[in-house]
Amino acid sequence: MSKNIQNKLHFINISKEEMTLFEWKPPRSFKSYILDVNLVKDNMTQDIFFHLNKGNMKMVYIRKGILLYTIGSDQDAQFQLLEALLEQIDKKFHEIWDIDVIFSYGNVSSNIFKDFTTHVNEIIENCNELIKKVDVYCRVCKKTLPLYVKNSIIENAVSFPVPLVFTHRGHALVTYIDQNFVVRGVELVNITG
Ligand SMILES: [Zn+2]
Repeated sequence: MSKNIQNKLHFINISKEEMTLFEWKPPRSFKSYILDVNLVKDNMTQDIFFHLNKGNMKMVYIRKGILLYTIGSDQDAQFQLLEALLEQIDKKFHEIWDIDVIFSYGNVSSNIFKDFTTHVNEIIENCNELIKKVDVYCRVCKKTLPLYVKNSIIENAVSFPVPLVFTHRGHALVTYIDQNFVVRGVELVNITG
C-alpha cells in the first residue's frame, strides 16, 4: 500500500506561524499548497486532528506546540492513515531537531530542514507499520470494506473496544475495534453536522 499512498498524497507541510519550515510533494509536482495551508492556520487548538474536504482533496491537520502539520491527499485515502503519517513525521522531526532551542536563536532559515525529505519518504514507504487493515461489512454497500486503523489509537486507548466512525459514500458506520485489531461490532449511525 505504500506505493499506493505515495501516489495519492498531494503535499505535506510543516509550518510555524507564517513560515513554512518544510514541504514535501510527490516527484514532478509543482503545485503550490500555500493557500490550502493558510486555510487551516487560524486553528489554534492543540493536539487534536482536524479533517477537511476541499474540492478533490482531503486534508488532515494538527497543531503541536509551535508547529502546524498539514497533509493533503486524494479523497480515497483514509483519514487514519493520514493521521498516522503526521504522527510519525512529528515524532521524527523532534528526534532530529530541538525545535524550541533552534527558534530561541531568532532568525532560522527553512534550509536547515531540507534533508527531512529523505525521512518523510522513508516514513511513507513504511506506512504499513503504522496502521492495520481490518475488514468491515457494511450493510448499506452490501460488501466488506477495508478500514485502516492507526496503531496509536489502540496503543493509547484507555478502554476497549475503541469506537471508530467510518464515513464513506455518504453514510457512516460506528465500528468497535478491540486491542487485537479485531472488529467487535458495526452499527449504522445517523449523521449530522
Ligand atoms: Zn457502506
